[in-house]
Amino acid sequence: MKILVIGGGGREHALIWKIKQSPKVSMIYCAPGNGGIADMAECLPISADDIDKLAEFAKDQSIDLTIVGPEDPLSKGIVDRFENQGLRIFGASRLAAEIESSKSFAKELMLKYSIPTAKGESFTDYDAAKAFIKNMGVPIVVKADGLAAGKGVMVCHTENQAIDALNRIMIDSAFGNAGEKVVIEECLTGEEASFLAFTDGKTVLPLPSSQDHKPIYDDDKGPNTGGMGAYSPAPVIDRYMHNRIMQEIMIPTVKAMAAEGRPYKGVLYAGLMINRDQIKVLEFNGRFGDPEAQPLLMRMKNDIIPVMEAIIEERLHTCTLSIDERAAVCVVMASGGYPGSYEKGMLISGLDKVKQMEDIFVFHAGTAATEKGIAANGGRVLGVTALGNSVKQAISTAYNAVSKIDWKDVQYRKDIGQKALTRFET
Ligand code: ATP
Repeated sequence: MKILVIGGGGREHALIWKIKQSPKVSMIYCAPGNGGIADMAECLPISADDIDKLAEFAKDQSIDLTIVGPEDPLSKGIVDRFENQGLRIFGASRLAAEIESSKSFAKELMLKYSIPTAKGESFTDYDAAKAFIKNMGVPIVVKADGLAAGKGVMVCHTENQAIDALNRIMIDSAFGNAGEKVVIEECLTGEEASFLAFTDGKTVLPLPSSQDHKPIYDDDKGPNTGGMGAYSPAPVIDRYMHNRIMQEIMIPTVKAMAAEGRPYKGVLYAGLMINRDQIKVLEFNGRFGDPEAQPLLMRMKNDIIPVMEAIIEERLHTCTLSIDERAAVCVVMASGGYPGSYEKGMLISGLDKVKQMEDIFVFHAGTAATEKGIAANGGRVLGVTALGNSVKQAISTAYNAVSKIDWKDVQYRKDIGQKALTRFET
């Protein structure tokens, strides 16, 4: 089979690493790809949201299956456009992807179908939103409705902060069209975890639990990022919680989407807040998380291509997932200054040393292949991912590899996975 993967981050490198192991696959293209992906796939100079060019390429090259990594092309309707042209593609349709691209749609869906979430409402009217903030009190969370790369959510501890957040979103249009509507909701406390599942719109096949680390600094300090590391399994989700998440959230959501005429096919990602035995949805994403994809795909033992084909053909009930019992940990290495501004072009040393290590793979995100070697070319640069017999061992292997890699001003969190260790110890 000839495969086209859309995207160019660590998630897409992990997808390609997994796809490449399939005996069904003979050729992989990636648009646009990155310096590491270029070792495994032919990278194309087409941006991930240039749907016309991507469809033209898929047609010209007789691509058998296109796989979409990021949310932007999904929300722009890439799946619908490909399917209309008879091209096979894995991902959520535009209407299904609204579960991520419109927080007001997701909130209203959850309220309508009694899927547990923070109490909240959506507003297009500024004065009504302001009155709601005053009425509800603080702490309170103010969210731009649309996609804002994780920056459109503000957790506010004073009324002034909440009004400022509202002004940024609705008056200053800091997030463009994404801020024409806002969702305002109660502030939840607890431990966050990610729960991802494959679904063909009927059957829901869960992946193991995982946990992201969004803030830039250790102990969850500093501004939020795209994700500074992840691990799987997340012990905050034990077997009992897993069953409840399936019964109370994942299965009802897939049923709700079907009832709304938006059948959901692809990967459904629930971002959860867990507080003792209370589980609530913070957000849904319509695709694999990045960096959660890196540890999850490292643990998945199945050939991923037949699973994706079964989803497209709506026969996921014929599949079972086989998961490596070992734990996986991904430590993201980022450019100094990220998530603010950062330099590009610094050469990365040590990648060769890590290549020879067992149970470890370095997934590339913002890298470029230059004549002199691999250079840092983005905010999040590498996802150093390790397998281990326990989370503790995987952490140790991952950080051992991280210690061999270097470039000017590199930064990374030193505490990825620590929350899991704390839980194992208590
Ligand atoms: P991304 O797409 O980058 O995952 P997003 O823009 O979709 O992020 P959310 O996941 O909804 O935004 O929120 C980002 C972060 O804000 C969450 O991971 C969580 O830490 C915090 N957050 C969101 N909603 C709430 C809430 N109701 N209570 C407390 N914290 C919240």
